[in-house]
Amino acid sequence: MNTSYITINEAAVDDSKIEAAGTLLKEGRLVAFPTETVYGLGANALDEEAAAKIYSAKGRPSDNPLIVHIADWDALGLIVKEIPPQARLLADRFWPGPLTMIFQKNERVPYGTTGGLETVAVRMPSNRIAQKLIRAGGGYIAAPSANTSGRPSPTQASHVLDDLDGKIDMIIDGGPVSIGLESTIVDLSEGVPTILRPGYITKEMLEEVLGHVEVDQAIIRSDSDIVPKAPGMKYKHYAPKADLVIVEGKSSMVVAKINELVQMKQAHGLRAGVICTEESFPSYEGGVVRTVGSRQDEESIAKHLFAVLREFDDLEVDCIYSESFEAPGLGQAIMNRLLKAAAHQVVKIDHKGVSKLNRIIFVSNSGTISGPMAEGLTKEKLKGKEIDVISRGLVVLFPEPINQKAEAVMISNGIRMDGYRSAQLTKEDLGDACLILTRTEKQKKTVLEAYPEQKQVYTLCEFTGEEDTPNPYGGELADYGRCFEQIERMVDRMIERLSMERSI
Ligand code: AMP
Ligand code: MG
Repeated sequence: MNTSYITINEAAVDDSKIEAAGTLLKEGRLVAFPTETVYGLGANALDEEAAAKIYSAKGRPSDNPLIVHIADWDALGLIVKEIPPQARLLADRFWPGPLTMIFQKNERVPYGTTGGLETVAVRMPSNRIAQKLIRAGGGYIAAPSANTSGRPSPTQASHVLDDLDGKIDMIIDGGPVSIGLESTIVDLSEGVPTILRPGYITKEMLEEVLGHVEVDQAIIRSDSDIVPKAPGMKYKHYAPKADLVIVEGKSSMVVAKINELVQMKQAHGLRAGVICTEESFPSYEGGVVRTVGSRQDEESIAKHLFAVLREFDDLEVDCIYSESFEAPGLGQAIMNRLLKAAAHQVVKIDHKGVSKLNRIIFVSNSGTISGPMAEGLTKEKLKGKEIDVISRGLVVLFPEPINQKAEAVMISNGIRMDGYRSAQLTKEDLGDACLILTRTEKQKKTVLEAYPEQKQVYTLCEFTGEEDTPNPYGGELADYGRCFEQIERMVDRMIERLSMERSI
């Protein structure tokens, strides 16, 4: 498909261009356009087939409902069962603007637009291009963010072009957006008004109008199994291609930690990106450093965050470290997006409460291959640190030396395990400041069944995010070599994580 690209100036909207774009929408086609929050990918919300095209262009899961955009208050009553009084109050204060409200839908709204739900999300944007386009397109435009699902939301037309060129009919370039984060979503359909997605309109602002407002727990707690009420919030979102880690703590310590992490990555020949603020920018020593704005001006941080995440995709960095932001006010929406982008990987630096490990135990079945390999590698890499590294087996009938092929691979990599003998894991090996890393899930279960009180028991894969390696037992020397290489990668990731967490 050929995507036409037109430019419209919000301060002097060219109505003939709007008419042309509106006609496309009425014909059931897709038009991306600017709103004050992010760029939206528009389709006629009352036309099920048109809405379906949005899902395929974005690669969006079909149970993730679309927000219907309107330009006039009277349009609302025609697509919902009722308008609660609280909605009227919120609309008087915040519409047109970055607030989405959930209503019971009526039969005019197809299930294809609401992801099968009986409710519909509605917003009235303040951007003038958006308003005129909505009217020209029939009054009801479904418009999720105009990005490929999972990528950071687009805050300028070039981002839309990057993701959707050739997949949609038109892109309207109206310049960079003014807010840069998606709308706040509030649900008024059940009892206490509840924020389903934080945004520019903060909890405090809503409470001025409504009194007490709740926040959907699922969007605050990283450990929670609760399903978010806004179906879209459960998906990995806003994600840059590189692994993103947020470093949280006192500002000077965060800078020092990020500098250390960047240096460590560089020593491995990797490129690290840093997301920081104007205040700390001069203190960074290496890596690709980008500022999102001043801590005094949260609005500028909100506005630049997604563009910086996209820039790191273009720069093809291997990992990104970000400073964290205060949670009240707009900071809550910023942190919500950042936490999702980081898949909740946060390193908390607390100079007081860090508990250092005194022992790492690698657990395998026989304690003759992967266990001693991991032990030898870790000892080598942590030389000089005060930490005990041992390996233990779960089925050791009598002490055995390391497997011969495993030993050959280790010797060729300069690591000797002279005098090594396998030993059964016992209670005496354990303690509070001890980390236990098993090869398999089953071994982890066995350890926890035998020692239910034991904390910090993980599989190596889960602790490091690395892939498992096949057991080379009975194979060629080369199989042992591959196993060794994979265990070395895991050990590197383990050390990196432990040092980030300041536990070694
Ligand atoms: P986007 O338009 O890409 O910013 O995503 C729209 C967001 O609104 C997603 O998180 C949806 O899950 C949410 N949403 C849309 N309709 C509803 C609804 N009826 N109930 C709850 N959440 C909704
Ligand atoms: Mg989106």
